[in-house]
Amino acid sequence: MTTLPRFDTEEVFNQSPPYENVDLYSSDVPLQEAVRANGDAQTDTLATFGRQWGTAEMFALARRANENPPKLYTFDGKGFRRDVVEYHPAYHELMRASIAAGLHASTWTSSGQRAAPPAEVARGARYYMAAQIESGHLCPITMTRAALAALAAAPELLAEVAPKVVSRSYDPVFRPWWEKPGMTLGMGMTEKQGGTDVRANSTTATPTGDCYSITGHKWFLSAPMSDAFLVLAQAPGGLTCFFVPRFRPDGTVNALRLQRLKDKLGNRSNASSEVEFAGAFALRVGDEGAGIRTIIQMVQLTRLDCALASAGFMRMALAQAVHHSRYRSVFQKHLYDQPMMRAVLADLALEVEGAVALVMRLARAFDLAPTDPRQAAYARLITPAAKYWICKTAPSFIYEAMECLGGNGYVEESVLPRLYREAPVNAIWEGSGNVMCLDVLRALKRDEEAAMLFADLEREGSRLTGVEQGLFEQLDEIASEAAARVTVGKLAVLAAAAALSATAPPPVVEAFVQTRLLQPHGALYGADSVDARTGETLLTRVLPEN
Ligand SMILES: Cc1cc2nc3c(=O)[nH]c(=O)nc-3n(C[C@H](O)[C@H](O)[C@H](O)COP(=O)(O)OP(=O)(O)OC[C@H]3O[C@@H](n4cnc5c(N)ncnc54)[C@H](O)[C@@H]3O)c2cc1C
Repeated sequence: MTTLPRFDTEEVFNQSPPYENVDLYSSDVPLQEAVRANGDAQTDTLATFGRQWGTAEMFALARRANENPPKLYTFDGKGFRRDVVEYHPAYHELMRASIAAGLHASTWTSSGQRAAPPAEVARGARYYMAAQIESGHLCPITMTRAALAALAAAPELLAEVAPKVVSRSYDPVFRPWWEKPGMTLGMGMTEKQGGTDVRANSTTATPTGDCYSITGHKWFLSAPMSDAFLVLAQAPGGLTCFFVPRFRPDGTVNALRLQRLKDKLGNRSNASSEVEFAGAFALRVGDEGAGIRTIIQMVQLTRLDCALASAGFMRMALAQAVHHSRYRSVFQKHLYDQPMMRAVLADLALEVEGAVALVMRLARAFDLAPTDPRQAAYARLITPAAKYWICKTAPSFIYEAMECLGGNGYVEESVLPRLYREAPVNAIWEGSGNVMCLDVLRALKRDEEAAMLFADLEREGSRLTGVEQGLFEQLDEIASEAAARVTVGKLAVLAAAAALSATAPPPVVEAFVQTRLLQPHGALYGADSVDARTGETLLTRVLPEN
């Protein structure tokens, strides 16, 4: 018997082991500090979640859900309309895990009231970890949890729907929501002629007794297998918010005609459809004409999730880069010990420090807003600012982290290409960059709200060394629209520095202030000098060294 020769290429060396079977919580010092500083002490629960989501199985589910995107079945073989989307089982597994952990609803009680603090911080930390693994399925998770805020405008409907939403059961079967143990919700605002200016919506809502009939087209309707949608349409009294279920009360399929699915850059595990409403059954949510005022309650929460998710993407990209650099040697030295690579990694780590401190501080503002007007002002102004800064930072950040892995970072087996493709959408949807800046400008003009925010930031920022009062004064001046990006960028970084000063060691805070606040951070990482000792501190905080 002959034995086959052993191929030389079977011996692999100088590669890092897979970054999986990690505890996404206990290995992440900045996250733990930010969670503690913002009032959540449930370390064990978060560590359990971090271990569960960091397993090799979860990484594999994420890969499969994105390699096998959902498919639309418009008709059956006999020509009958079906209008259903089928997802890969991996997507359903991810949905099941997120819903079991309450990512879709743990900030609500079963009567649709806000859950007590620190519900937002506890959920925010879990959402940040889940986003590191798979973000497409988080779209319906986010919309479901946010929808209850808008449904508050229809108390009777809220009372019926809330117990189904807060349930921890995921039921993907296509059947009426009232027959299911749990339900999910989506939203339909964007039309062909515009997503920002929803006042230009042309979809109509005709009253039919105590309900409405919706006719029109939505250009983007994500998660079309959600059990119901909050939809904007023109009623006789103006733009109005509606609850549009997939099934009519008599149990027949509602008139949502799915036209096609978007062929998207990223976010591929999630379906985003174009849809016609052909006289669809709908219930009104809030007054006629109050559509924007009603749905904005939901949008404020989805914007928080965009910032949380993008901060999570950055964290995963950074962890991959640091992990790889600790194993990979070039010129007889680990990449991790090469001075220039350390400068790049430390600068990336500093960015994540600021981002995670800010999103957790923002989550606390959401926790406290119902009873504290100052926190409400913080949430009102910093949500769009944080979404703007973090979601816009993520794509270039991920690209830089990808390069730390060299060619390995560019191939699909590493998660970095998926993160890179995913990142831009968080800046685009739920209010694109410029729209966020206009939103902040509008809010800054409301003197009382702005004054409360600045008083709060000054108090938190008083711990910052080297920050002159002038910075606050600069921000106090209302910028022109053309300069709004500069102002809002500064506001976000200032809020991040203030949040960081409550969580991180002083040299980390100092480095953040020096490289991001007192001078503008350029587009490239590693060009700013973080001194070697602070760099060491930053890098050991990213991942524990083995
Ligand atoms: C994958 C994906 C899924 C989506 N899912 C949904 C969904 O489920 N439901 C839904 O309703 N929508 C959804 N959307 C749509 C999304 O919310 C919109 O694309 C977004 O709101 C922007 O609207 P628009 O595309 O019409 O761009 P436009 O409104 O045309 O804006 C284009 C650009 O102009 C900028 N701009 C707008 N106004 C101003 C101004 N006054 N000054 C300066 N700049 C300005 C914007 O910032 C943006 O950069 C989805 C989008 C994507 C990509």
